[in-house]
Amino acid sequence: MSDPFEQLPDWEIRVISPGRVNLLGEHVDYNQGTVLPIAIDRFVRLAARPRADDLVTIESLDLKSRLQFRLEDLDRRVDAQGKPLTGWALYPAGVAWALRAGGLEVRGLEAVLTSDLPIGAGLSSSAALELAFALAWQAAGGWQLERMALAQLCQRAENAYAGVACGLMDQFACAHGVARHALYFDTRSLQWQPLPMPPDSAVVIADSGLRRQLAASGYNQRRVECEQAVSLLRTRLPDIRSLRDVSPAQLDEHGDCLPPEIRKRARHVVEEIARVQQACFCLAQDDAAGFGRLMVAGHASLRDLFEVSLPELDGLVDAALSIEGCCGARLTGAGFGGCTVNLVARDAAGDFMAELGRRYRQDCGSQVVIYCCQPSRGAHLLGT
Ligand code: ADP
Ligand code: MG
Repeated sequence: MSDPFEQLPDWEIRVISPGRVNLLGEHVDYNQGTVLPIAIDRFVRLAARPRADDLVTIESLDLKSRLQFRLEDLDRRVDAQGKPLTGWALYPAGVAWALRAGGLEVRGLEAVLTSDLPIGAGLSSSAALELAFALAWQAAGGWQLERMALAQLCQRAENAYAGVACGLMDQFACAHGVARHALYFDTRSLQWQPLPMPPDSAVVIADSGLRRQLAASGYNQRRVECEQAVSLLRTRLPDIRSLRDVSPAQLDEHGDCLPPEIRKRARHVVEEIARVQQACFCLAQDDAAGFGRLMVAGHASLRDLFEVSLPELDGLVDAALSIEGCCGARLTGAGFGGCTVNLVARDAAGDFMAELGRRYRQDCGSQVVIYCCQPSRGAHLLGT
C-alpha cells in the first residue's frame, strides 16, 4: 500500500492521530465512570509548517475545503474574511483557542490533512482532528504538555468552541492509545492503564451508515436525565456526586425515589460501570468469551434501559451474534446510528466480516461498511 502521507506536502511537522472505538462503558464518561476504549488504526494525517505571521491556513483533502483565520480573531470566531467560523473550522480554531487560553504559544500555521476515518460515524474523527492540531501547534511552539493535559484542552475546544458536549473519553483514547491494548480509563481520577487484548481475538467495527439528527438532542437529553437521577438520589444518599458513586445494590434500595424512565437510565449507568470492572478481569485472563458476554449485556442495556439503539443496530448485533466466531457485539458510541463493535475470534474474522455484510443486506436491505481494527498507538509526530 502506498504511504498516505504522499498525498500531503513534504513539510517538517507530520502528525498521525487515530480514531477510537469504545469496547465497553457507554454513556458513562459524563457520569464520572470508567470506560474501555481502544485507539484504532484509522487516522487523521496532517502535514504542517509554521508561518511567520498569525495566519492559519488549513486544507482538508477529504472535504475539499480550505479555511483561513487569524489567531487574533479567535475570540470573535471569524475567519480571515470576517465571516463566522462554522462547521469543521470550529475544531482546529477551537484547539488554537483552547491552547492559547491555557497560556501556550500558538503560531501561525499552514496545514493540510487527510483522514480515513468515517466522519460522524462515532469513531471520533473529531477528537483525532483536534489532537492532530494540538500536536502540530505543540511542535511549532516548541513547548511540551502531558498527553492528558492536551486531551483536556482538546475536549475544552470541542465543548466550548465547537459546542459539542462530549466527555473526555474520545480525546483521552486518541492521545493515549497503545498497540494491542485496551485502555482502562477512570474519567474521575484520570488514572488509566493499558490492558492487553486477548491475542487470538479481533475487533471488527460495522458502520450502519445511519446518521440521525436525533443523536445530538438524544445525547443531551440523556445527560440531563442522569443529572436528574443524581439530584433525586441525593435525598437518600447525600454524599453522591455522580452516578459513579451509586452501586447497583444502592440503586435497588433507593431507586423507588426515581420516576421509572430516570430509574432505567440510572440502572444502565451503574451496571455498565460494574461491567467495565468485570471486563478488566476478563482481559486479565484472556477471556474473550466472558468479555463478549459483557458486551452483549451492555447492548441489551443500551437498547432497553438507556434507549439509544435503533432497529438497524439491534439487527446488526443479532446478526453478528448468530455468526460463528463472534464472542460479543454491541452498539458503540452515543447511539441513534453509527457503528457496532464486535469481538471476534481472529481466525474467523474474515468470514465473519463477509457474512455480516451479507446478512445485513438481506435483513435490512442496505450496505454496511465493515472494518477490522488493530488497537493502535495514540496521536504522535511521525518519526517519534
Ligand atoms: P465523529 O467524531 O464521531 O466522527 P463528530 O460529529 O463528533 O463525529 O465529528 C465530526 C466532525 O469533525 C465533522 O463534521 C467535521 O466538522 C470534523 N471532521 C472530521 N474529520 C474531518 C476531516 N477529515 N476534515 C475536516 N473536518 C473533519
Ligand atoms: Mg466526535
